[in-house]
Amino acid sequence: MTTATVDAVVIGAGPNGLVAANALADAGWDVLLLEANDVVGGAVSSADVTAPGFHTDMFSAFYPLAAASQVIKNLDLTDHGLTWVQAEKVMAHTLPDGGSAVLERDPASTAAGLETFGKGDGQAWLDMFEGWLRIRDPLLDAMFTPIPPVRAVLKLLGRTKPAGLLDLARLAVLPVRRLGMENFRGVGGPLLLTGNAMHADVPPDAAGSGIFGWLLAMLGQDVGFPVPQGGAQNLAFALQRRFESRGGQVRTGARVSSVLVSGGRARGVRTEDGTAIKATRAVVADVVAPVLYRDLVGLEHVPPKVGESLHRFHWDNPTLKINWALDRPLAWKAAGATGAGTVHFGTDLDGFVDFAADLSVGRQPVHPFVLFGQMTTADPTRSPAGTESTWAYTHVPREMSEDRIRLDEHVRRVESHLEQVAPGFGSSIITRFVQYPNDLEASDANLVNGAINGGTSYPHQQLVFRPIPGLGRPETPIQGLFLASASAHPGGGVHGACGWNAATSALHSQGPLRMVRRQLTGTAWDRLLRS
Ligand SMILES: Cc1cc2nc3c(=O)[nH]c(=O)nc-3n(C[C@H](O)[C@H](O)[C@H](O)COP(=O)(O)OP(=O)(O)OC[C@H]3O[C@@H](n4cnc5c(N)ncnc54)[C@H](O)[C@@H]3O)c2cc1C
Repeated sequence: MTTATVDAVVIGAGPNGLVAANALADAGWDVLLLEANDVVGGAVSSADVTAPGFHTDMFSAFYPLAAASQVIKNLDLTDHGLTWVQAEKVMAHTLPDGGSAVLERDPASTAAGLETFGKGDGQAWLDMFEGWLRIRDPLLDAMFTPIPPVRAVLKLLGRTKPAGLLDLARLAVLPVRRLGMENFRGVGGPLLLTGNAMHADVPPDAAGSGIFGWLLAMLGQDVGFPVPQGGAQNLAFALQRRFESRGGQVRTGARVSSVLVSGGRARGVRTEDGTAIKATRAVVADVVAPVLYRDLVGLEHVPPKVGESLHRFHWDNPTLKINWALDRPLAWKAAGATGAGTVHFGTDLDGFVDFAADLSVGRQPVHPFVLFGQMTTADPTRSPAGTESTWAYTHVPREMSEDRIRLDEHVRRVESHLEQVAPGFGSSIITRFVQYPNDLEASDANLVNGAINGGTSYPHQQLVFRPIPGLGRPETPIQGLFLASASAHPGGGVHGACGWNAATSALHSQGPLRMVRRQLTGTAWDRLLRS
């Protein structure tokens, strides 16, 4: 049964699918966005799951990447009902002895705090931040545009000169532990850098973790960790409203079961209820790469090398998320954590390495590293006055991701660590709502076994290796099919770049240079995959 013919179908209304749909609609295309869930947003979603009046962000919650992303900024979402708010302090890392390193809104205040950890560390922070400001714009351009980002790299070179570019290249492979040691005497600066690095899954002593820690910490210093007023869902709703205001159509409760391929070209999609939708120009998939190729397309339609590479696809670690409604704000031992939207705890500086090693060898971490959100602190509309809506997440080894007994024990472990750093926490709990790794996947098919970034952030699956060794671009070996999810370069996080890049590639594939482009990408895929 065919019910529609449109210019483009976008599969999946996560932030990347929503951004892609907006970009295509802006170009005047007739676009249908199909979403499996009953609401749009993917991992940008909120619900009242703990107690009445408490709003919980079910997945992502803090949006420095969105605030810094030119893609999101250009969409003018504030005209579509989005209001950004944020906590008085960006983030804090607390230690059981009551110490804390704090990322304040104001760089001088962050520096003053870090100076108490080591003489000269305050200035080291300010120097690092000044270096960031010098290269921020071309660097973000280089990261968020498709490979090869020639223009952005040339601009970057203009700012840094060759020696600076070499330093940046070194930073790109530096372990965050080493980055901390090279720049700071005390543990304050390294705690901030390492905690931020751990938002990705690269261990602190492994190549590639430094740039994540540096990027997120510098972004935090620059734009803070903002949140959408009223809940993460409001970011997704603003994207939906903008798309619909441009004539785009959203169909929720519509899971795509296959991409229709014939003659090496994507012709449309079929949904689970058997409806076929023709797409005359493009199918843009906000779907993780292994699922897209194996389940929706079918490996028979792609060169055998794609299947072989997918066999080696490296997922990021499973996630265990716990949400609480609290009858009062936390009484942190460390004053620094009061007023911070994000709080990190559970490990000291060496403990990060132990935690990553535990994940790597499949051991249940004794001291889990925990990311904690004080959402009412960040946005007072999240729960009744005098209460706090909170969540925590930590990663668990793949080996225990389905073991309820150990996962429940892990929940208790996280709570007992919280009790140490915020005495009285336990007695403030009104209700708790746990999301096990399987629950995350059940609510968003892209979160396979609780992986939050569409595949690992290790260097072996970044740039031209993302999602599989190839072009590192949104084009796929199937003409007219574009990969828009976080499995594509530049990867996880809510920045919209994967969606934007997929949409612009789709638009270019229909532009005046389409034959040249098709020839170039087609030949490149042939060389890489069919040899
Ligand atoms: C617990 C958690 C915490 C996080 N914290 C942060 C944070 O604080 N800040 C940040 O920037 N990032 C954070 N992230 C990462 C960020 O949320 C993701 O990287 C981002 O949402 C990826 O966007 P996406 O559009 O690629 O995929 P998703 O957001 O996963 O959306 C994919 C959408 O596609 C739909 N879909 C999939 N398959 C189909 C199909 N066959 N048919 C129809 N629809 C389909 C899904 O239902 C879903 O709606 C977090 C993620 C998680 C899980």
